[in-house]
Amino acid sequence: MRQPLVAGNWKMNGSLASVRDLLAGLKAGIGDVKVAEVAVCPPAVFIPEVQAQLDGTPIAWGGQDLSVHESGAYTGEIAGSMLTDFGCKYVIIGHSERRTYHGETDELVAEKFTAARKSGLVPLFCIGETQEERESGVTEEVVARQIDAVIKHCGVDMLGEGVIAYEPVWAIGTGLTASPEQAQDVHAFIRQRVSESSADVADKLRILYGGSMKPGNAAELLAKPDIDGGLIGGAALKAEDFLGICTAAN
Ligand code: PEP
Repeated sequence: MRQPLVAGNWKMNGSLASVRDLLAGLKAGIGDVKVAEVAVCPPAVFIPEVQAQLDGTPIAWGGQDLSVHESGAYTGEIAGSMLTDFGCKYVIIGHSERRTYHGETDELVAEKFTAARKSGLVPLFCIGETQEERESGVTEEVVARQIDAVIKHCGVDMLGEGVIAYEPVWAIGTGLTASPEQAQDVHAFIRQRVSESSADVADKLRILYGGSMKPGNAAELLAKPDIDGGLIGGAALKAEDFLGICTAAN
Protein backbone atom coordinates (compact mmCIF):
# COMPACT_ATOMS: atom_id res chain seq x y z
CA MET A 1 0.00 0.00 0.00
CA ARG A 2 1.28 3.46 -0.89
CA GLN A 3 0.48 6.04 1.78
CA PRO A 4 -0.88 9.19 0.12
CA LEU A 5 1.25 12.31 0.46
CA VAL A 6 -0.12 15.83 0.23
CA ALA A 7 2.62 18.44 -0.04
CA GLY A 8 2.18 22.20 -0.16
CA ASN A 9 4.41 24.32 -2.39
CA TRP A 10 4.19 27.84 -0.99
CA LYS A 11 6.36 29.20 -3.82
CA MET A 12 7.50 32.81 -3.21
CA ASN A 13 4.57 33.79 -1.03
CA GLY A 14 4.04 34.94 2.53
CA SER A 15 5.51 37.07 5.28
CA LEU A 16 6.65 36.00 8.72
CA ALA A 17 3.25 37.06 10.06
CA SER A 18 1.24 35.19 7.42
CA VAL A 19 3.43 32.10 7.78
CA ARG A 20 2.75 32.07 11.53
CA ASP A 21 -1.01 32.31 10.89
CA LEU A 22 -0.90 29.54 8.31
CA LEU A 23 1.11 27.24 10.59
CA ALA A 24 -1.27 27.87 13.48
CA GLY A 25 -4.19 26.90 11.22
CA LEU A 26 -2.44 23.75 10.02
CA LYS A 27 -1.57 22.67 13.56
CA ALA A 28 -5.15 23.25 14.71
CA GLY A 29 -6.62 21.07 11.96
CA ILE A 30 -4.05 18.35 11.33
CA GLY A 31 -5.78 16.01 13.78
CA ASP A 32 -8.57 15.51 11.22
CA VAL A 33 -6.12 14.13 8.66
CA LYS A 34 -6.23 10.38 9.19
CA VAL A 35 -4.64 8.84 6.13
CA ALA A 36 -2.33 11.17 4.23
CA GLU A 37 1.19 12.13 5.10
CA VAL A 38 1.39 15.94 5.01
CA ALA A 39 4.31 18.24 4.19
CA VAL A 40 4.87 21.93 3.44
CA CYS A 41 7.62 23.53 1.37
CA PRO A 42 8.03 27.18 2.37
CA PRO A 43 10.42 29.77 0.94
CA ALA A 44 13.85 28.95 2.39
CA VAL A 45 14.01 31.92 4.77
CA PHE A 46 10.90 30.71 6.58
CA ILE A 47 12.22 27.17 7.14
CA PRO A 48 13.58 27.90 10.66
CA GLU A 49 10.18 29.27 11.70
CA VAL A 50 8.43 26.27 10.15
CA GLN A 51 10.78 23.93 11.98
CA ALA A 52 10.18 25.73 15.28
CA GLN A 53 6.41 25.47 14.83
CA LEU A 54 6.07 22.00 13.31
CA ASP A 55 8.71 20.02 15.16
CA GLY A 56 6.87 17.29 17.07
CA THR A 57 3.73 17.54 14.88
CA PRO A 58 2.85 15.03 12.13
CA ILE A 59 3.56 17.67 9.44
CA ALA A 60 6.90 17.40 7.64
CA TRP A 61 8.60 20.22 5.74
CA GLY A 62 10.98 20.67 2.87
CA GLY A 63 12.79 23.04 0.53
CA GLN A 64 11.66 24.22 -2.90
CA ASP A 65 15.02 23.68 -4.61
CA LEU A 66 18.64 22.85 -3.83
CA SER A 67 22.06 23.28 -5.35
CA VAL A 68 23.89 20.44 -7.06
CA HIS A 69 26.98 21.59 -5.11
CA GLU A 70 27.79 20.69 -1.52
CA SER A 71 29.26 24.10 -0.57
CA GLY A 72 31.40 26.91 -1.93
CA ALA A 73 31.24 30.00 -4.09
CA TYR A 74 27.68 29.65 -5.42
CA THR A 75 26.00 32.90 -4.41
CA GLY A 76 22.30 32.55 -3.70
CA GLU A 77 22.31 28.75 -3.71
CA ILE A 78 21.26 26.45 -0.88
CA ALA A 79 22.95 23.10 -0.23
CA GLY A 80 21.03 19.96 0.66
CA SER A 81 22.93 19.68 3.95
CA MET A 82 21.64 23.15 4.90
CA LEU A 83 18.08 21.95 4.41
CA THR A 84 18.63 18.84 6.51
CA ASP A 85 20.26 21.01 9.20
CA PHE A 86 16.85 22.64 9.58
CA GLY A 87 14.94 19.39 9.69
CA CYS A 88 13.76 19.22 6.08
CA LYS A 89 12.59 15.81 4.93
CA TYR A 90 11.68 16.74 1.35
CA VAL A 91 12.93 18.99 -1.44
CA ILE A 92 11.06 19.88 -4.62
CA ILE A 93 13.18 19.47 -7.74
CA GLY A 94 12.44 20.16 -11.38
CA HIS A 95 9.36 22.29 -10.77
CA SER A 96 8.15 23.68 -14.09
CA GLU A 97 8.74 27.23 -12.83
CA ARG A 98 12.43 26.34 -12.31
CA ARG A 99 12.58 24.63 -15.69
CA THR A 100 10.90 27.60 -17.42
CA TYR A 101 12.32 30.66 -15.64
CA HIS A 102 15.72 29.29 -14.62
CA GLY A 103 16.47 27.10 -17.62
CA GLU A 104 16.77 23.88 -15.61
CA THR A 105 17.35 20.95 -17.95
CA ASP A 106 16.44 17.29 -17.48
CA GLU A 107 20.14 16.59 -16.81
CA LEU A 108 20.46 19.30 -14.14
CA VAL A 109 17.29 18.05 -12.47
CA ALA A 110 18.77 14.54 -12.45
CA GLU A 111 21.92 15.93 -10.80
CA LYS A 112 19.74 17.64 -8.21
CA PHE A 113 18.02 14.31 -7.56
CA THR A 114 21.40 12.78 -6.67
CA ALA A 115 22.41 15.82 -4.59
CA ALA A 116 19.17 15.54 -2.62
CA ARG A 117 19.67 11.85 -1.90
CA LYS A 118 23.31 12.42 -0.90
CA SER A 119 22.01 14.82 1.77
CA GLY A 120 19.31 12.39 2.90
CA LEU A 121 16.45 14.44 1.43
CA VAL A 122 13.50 12.87 -0.37
CA PRO A 123 13.13 14.53 -3.78
CA LEU A 124 9.67 15.58 -4.91
CA PHE A 125 10.54 15.23 -8.57
CA CYS A 126 8.24 17.27 -10.83
CA ILE A 127 7.51 16.35 -14.43
CA GLY A 128 4.83 17.33 -16.91
CA GLU A 129 4.03 18.61 -20.35
CA THR A 130 3.17 22.10 -21.57
CA GLN A 131 -0.14 22.89 -23.24
CA GLU A 132 1.55 22.95 -26.63
CA GLU A 133 3.09 19.53 -26.00
CA ARG A 134 -0.28 18.09 -24.95
CA GLU A 135 -1.96 19.52 -28.02
CA SER A 136 0.78 18.05 -30.21
CA GLY A 137 0.16 14.61 -28.68
CA VAL A 138 3.62 14.23 -27.14
CA THR A 139 2.69 14.14 -23.42
CA GLU A 140 3.95 10.58 -22.95
CA GLU A 141 7.14 11.30 -24.86
CA VAL A 142 7.87 14.33 -22.65
CA VAL A 143 7.28 12.63 -19.29
CA ALA A 144 9.20 9.55 -20.45
CA ARG A 145 12.17 11.75 -21.37
CA GLN A 146 12.04 13.51 -17.97
CA ILE A 147 11.88 10.20 -16.07
CA ASP A 148 14.51 8.49 -18.21
CA ALA A 149 17.01 11.30 -17.48
CA VAL A 150 16.80 10.51 -13.75
CA ILE A 151 16.92 6.74 -14.26
CA LYS A 152 19.98 7.13 -16.51
CA HIS A 153 21.79 9.42 -14.05
CA CYS A 154 20.72 7.96 -10.70
CA GLY A 155 19.51 4.44 -11.43
CA VAL A 156 15.99 3.20 -10.90
CA ASP A 157 16.54 2.25 -7.25
CA MET A 158 17.43 5.84 -6.39
CA LEU A 159 14.40 7.07 -8.34
CA GLY A 160 12.38 4.82 -6.04
CA GLU A 161 13.70 6.72 -3.01
CA GLY A 162 11.90 9.83 -4.23
CA VAL A 163 8.35 10.82 -5.09
CA ILE A 164 7.20 11.83 -8.58
CA ALA A 165 4.83 14.76 -8.99
CA TYR A 166 3.04 14.80 -12.33
CA GLU A 167 2.18 18.44 -12.94
CA PRO A 168 0.80 19.31 -16.36
CA VAL A 169 2.25 22.80 -16.87
CA TRP A 170 -1.03 24.05 -18.36
CA ALA A 171 -2.80 23.22 -15.09
CA ILE A 172 -0.38 24.95 -12.70
CA GLY A 173 -1.83 28.11 -11.21
CA THR A 174 -4.29 28.43 -14.08
CA GLY A 175 -7.44 27.07 -12.45
CA LEU A 176 -7.51 24.40 -15.19
CA THR A 177 -7.26 20.92 -13.72
CA ALA A 178 -6.59 17.71 -15.59
CA SER A 179 -9.73 15.58 -15.40
CA PRO A 180 -9.31 12.59 -13.07
CA GLU A 181 -9.24 10.37 -16.20
CA GLN A 182 -6.61 12.49 -17.96
CA ALA A 183 -4.44 12.50 -14.84
CA GLN A 184 -4.93 8.76 -14.22
CA ASP A 185 -3.90 7.97 -17.81
CA VAL A 186 -0.58 9.80 -17.42
CA HIS A 187 0.03 8.41 -13.93
CA ALA A 188 -0.51 4.88 -15.24
CA PHE A 189 1.88 5.61 -18.10
CA ILE A 190 4.52 6.92 -15.64
CA ARG A 191 4.22 3.79 -13.50
CA GLN A 192 4.45 1.62 -16.60
CA ARG A 193 7.54 3.49 -17.77
CA VAL A 194 9.27 2.99 -14.40
CA SER A 195 8.22 -0.67 -14.34
CA GLU A 196 10.20 -1.23 -17.54
CA SER A 197 13.28 -0.67 -15.31
CA SER A 198 11.90 -2.19 -12.09
CA ALA A 199 8.41 -3.52 -11.42
CA ASP A 200 9.08 -3.42 -7.69
CA VAL A 201 10.12 0.25 -7.68
CA ALA A 202 7.14 1.14 -9.90
CA ASP A 203 4.73 -0.59 -7.57
CA LYS A 204 5.98 1.24 -4.47
CA LEU A 205 6.61 4.66 -6.06
CA ARG A 206 4.27 7.45 -4.98
CA ILE A 207 3.07 9.56 -7.91
CA LEU A 208 1.38 12.82 -6.90
CA TYR A 209 -0.84 14.98 -9.09
CA GLY A 210 -0.28 18.74 -9.14
CA GLY A 211 -2.15 21.47 -10.98
CA SER A 212 -4.97 23.52 -9.48
CA MET A 213 -5.95 20.80 -7.00
CA LYS A 214 -8.54 22.14 -4.57
CA PRO A 215 -10.82 20.75 -1.84
CA GLY A 216 -13.60 20.53 -4.45
CA ASN A 217 -11.74 18.31 -6.93
CA ALA A 218 -9.27 16.46 -4.69
CA ALA A 219 -11.43 13.48 -3.72
CA GLU A 220 -12.13 12.51 -7.34
CA LEU A 221 -8.47 12.79 -8.31
CA LEU A 222 -7.22 10.95 -5.22
CA ALA A 223 -9.68 8.12 -5.81
CA LYS A 224 -7.82 7.10 -8.98
CA PRO A 225 -5.66 4.02 -8.52
CA ASP A 226 -2.35 5.55 -9.64
CA ILE A 227 -2.78 8.98 -7.98
CA ASP A 228 -1.04 8.79 -4.61
CA GLY A 229 -1.52 12.33 -3.37
CA GLY A 230 -1.05 15.91 -4.47
CA LEU A 231 1.46 18.71 -4.81
CA ILE A 232 -0.52 21.82 -4.03
CA GLY A 233 0.35 25.43 -4.92
CA GLY A 234 -2.32 28.12 -4.51
CA ALA A 235 -4.58 26.07 -2.25
CA ALA A 236 -1.69 25.39 0.14
CA LEU A 237 -1.68 29.03 1.24
CA LYS A 238 -4.95 28.76 3.18
CA ALA A 239 -5.01 26.26 6.05
CA GLU A 240 -8.68 25.43 5.47
CA ASP A 241 -8.18 24.66 1.76
CA PHE A 242 -4.98 22.69 2.26
CA LEU A 243 -6.46 20.64 5.08
CA GLY A 244 -9.58 20.10 2.96
CA ILE A 245 -7.38 18.44 0.34
CA CYS A 246 -5.51 16.42 2.99
CA THR A 247 -8.75 15.10 4.46
CA ALA A 248 -10.05 14.19 0.98
CA ALA A 249 -7.58 11.28 1.21
CA ASN A 250 -9.26 9.99 4.42
C1 PEP B 1 2.51 23.81 -8.11
O1 PEP B 1 3.05 24.89 -8.29
O2 PEP B 1 3.21 22.83 -7.82
C2 PEP B 1 1.06 23.73 -8.24
C3 PEP B 1 0.49 22.57 -8.37
O3 PEP B 1 0.39 24.94 -8.23
P1 PEP B 1 -1.22 25.14 -8.22
O4 PEP B 1 -1.80 24.16 -7.24
O5 PEP B 1 -1.42 26.56 -7.81
O6 PEP B 1 -1.69 24.87 -9.61
